[in-house]
Amino acid sequence: MNANILSGLNAAQREAVEHIDGPMLILAGAGSGKTKTLTTRLAYLIDEVGIPSSATLTLTFTNKAAREMRLRALSLIENNVSHPPLLCTFHKFGLLFLKFYIRRLGRDENFILIDSDDRKKIIRSFAKSIPVSAIDFKISQFKNLLISPQTASEDAKDPYQRQIAQIYRTYNTFLENKNMVDFDDLLYLSYMILDTQEDIAQEISRRYQYVMVDEYQDTNYLQSRLLRKFCGVHQNLCVVGDDDQSIYGWRGADISNILEFGNDFENVKVVKLEENYRSTSQILKAANSLIARNSMRLGKKLQSNKGDGKEIEILRSNDEKEESAKVADRIKKLIKQGERLDDIAILFRLNALSRSIEEGLNRAKIPYKLIGAMRFYERSEIKDILSYLRLILNPHDDFSLSRIINKPRRGIGKITQDKIFRAAQNLGISAYEALKQGCLKEVVNEKNHHVFEELFLKIEDLRICLNEASSKIIDELFTRIDIIGGVEENSNDNVDRVSNIQEFHGLFRDYFFQSPTNSLQDFLNDLSLSGDADTQHENFVSCMSAHSAKGLEFKYVFITGFEEGFFPLIRDGGNIEEERRLGYVAFTRAKDQLYISYVDSRFYKGKRTRLERSSFIKESGLLGFGEEGTKNDDSNSQDNFKQGDWVIHKIFGTGRVVSAQGKDKEMRLRINFGGMQREILASFVQKASHV
Ligand code: ATP
Ligand code: MG
Repeated sequence: MNANILSGLNAAQREAVEHIDGPMLILAGAGSGKTKTLTTRLAYLIDEVGIPSSATLTLTFTNKAAREMRLRALSLIENNVSHPPLLCTFHKFGLLFLKFYIRRLGRDENFILIDSDDRKKIIRSFAKSIPVSAIDFKISQFKNLLISPQTASEDAKDPYQRQIAQIYRTYNTFLENKNMVDFDDLLYLSYMILDTQEDIAQEISRRYQYVMVDEYQDTNYLQSRLLRKFCGVHQNLCVVGDDDQSIYGWRGADISNILEFGNDFENVKVVKLEENYRSTSQILKAANSLIARNSMRLGKKLQSNKGDGKEIEILRSNDEKEESAKVADRIKKLIKQGERLDDIAILFRLNALSRSIEEGLNRAKIPYKLIGAMRFYERSEIKDILSYLRLILNPHDDFSLSRIINKPRRGIGKITQDKIFRAAQNLGISAYEALKQGCLKEVVNEKNHHVFEELFLKIEDLRICLNEASSKIIDELFTRIDIIGGVEENSNDNVDRVSNIQEFHGLFRDYFFQSPTNSLQDFLNDLSLSGDADTQHENFVSCMSAHSAKGLEFKYVFITGFEEGFFPLIRDGGNIEEERRLGYVAFTRAKDQLYISYVDSRFYKGKRTRLERSSFIKESGLLGFGEEGTKNDDSNSQDNFKQGDWVIHKIFGTGRVVSAQGKDKEMRLRINFGGMQREILASFVQKASHV
């Protein structure tokens, strides 16, 4: 018996871990140990019950969460497992599944996974009169509701809907012809295969005898249907979630999945966890009081067992510059006290607000990492490299070619490009094929033809290198094509870009060092899913949106931009209850101390706007914390005592500052109280306005 596994669990958690067969729902508030219970149960199934790790499947929503869960589970398992259990995001599972089974749809497993940027570009080429984002959203919605282009056009009620359905069909046909797959397809196509091929559905369900899902409240219709497929031959689905943390309604998450779990399965075991181990009761009190304002909730008890802790600090600033300086200043103090940067997170409601925070951290020279916002591989210089790599895999990939045909600059201008692609399109072949067949000679002038031919000679060379060793291809690419030089001549922010390229270079080498048998194709697909350049072991402050923080925890959390209109975000069709849930998620990420910051004015979308503090401050019972009290008062002039100031001390009375040392709360003042000098911390005296 591995005594480690169950020790450290409370009775309810233990009950959940020891429940083996049959459906189970663990419904509990933030920080109550849901994820801990899930990972412990995984370890228990493998180590104690003797279930092969390959018979388990554990799913969650973000890579970061998946990685942390894997670490937690593996650290508990003592027996040797030949294969680590499959624990990943839904999308990663879809990718692995399609690698094996996409042939059943008559497609090749060497598909290209496109990102949201590519996707918009493709849609833009078909949709001239409707905004791309509207169609993009609609297509995503169709796929996640399992509506095929066929059904979409049958269901269309007016010309607008017919037009959308038509674009959806054209877009899908384009992807099929180019053997491309978008993010939604990872699950949509997987489901299509499972739904139409009973043998595969049976095989998968038999393989994964024990299925677990974290953050179940955020599953959408398609995901819940997929899970039903996994449970075709058994009922061993264990889901954990919190209805108060459902924050993806705007993207189709369906809270009824969790609310109706008991109706969808028979004999569901329901476990509730009511102790919060993460946050101090100060933090929990504010979070509970905020979420209590929502009417659509199951209502749960949640009590902290960590004691009262430090008071929540509210920071008020004139503008975003002051805000970021204050946050940076607090962080510096924490570091001085011996805290680690890793234990600190800065959250914001909108990615657009991260810019000023980043500037503040840069100014203060505090290392940070922006998580999930601009995905690493979506940076233009990285996409260029990826396009080269795709082109090496498939020289007929005109989509990638169009991106790099003139990068670095080789004199093939827009007009020539149009000529080349149009000629190829008219012939129904790729530009590469057109070149090989000599069809471009009449279309472009001799010089350009030569340059274009040179490019493909290099690509062909690189294809030979690829056959020899995938892991070397990046070095070969950089040798033959001056990627870095191209960047340096082109851009103002080239230092960033060059260091991104170098980071990518390192990432590539690490990948093949760790997985030497993987192919370039595997690398490209894994990268599209992982999104981030992975620098796990470094010490840095994490900056991210409140959405990306779901499931994570930090000792110190700063929530910035806490203004009415920003958090809660007010927009068309906005949902105040979902905003509150997001606020609840943000608050409950903090273990020891929470800082909430708002500004009186902010520069946003081209203009400076006056703002009010968020109504959530009042709703959380935090009015008077910090900005009006004396203890944490930032607008109070305590920060700037100087020689000659008159002050009042409770015991010593009125005095005059002789000298001041240090800053803010650590500021020490030498004060002359009627001839008697004393050294006193600035926080123990008040400024006297006039004497
Ligand atoms: P969220 O809703 O935010 O996802 P959660 O319910 O998944 O939260 P966990 O992340 O699993 O909560 O746990 C929160 C913290 O409490 C973790 O640091 C975890 O190690 C700790 N914890 C959970 N259960 C216990 C326990 N029985 N004893 C001590 N610590 C615990
Ligand atoms: Mg969790």
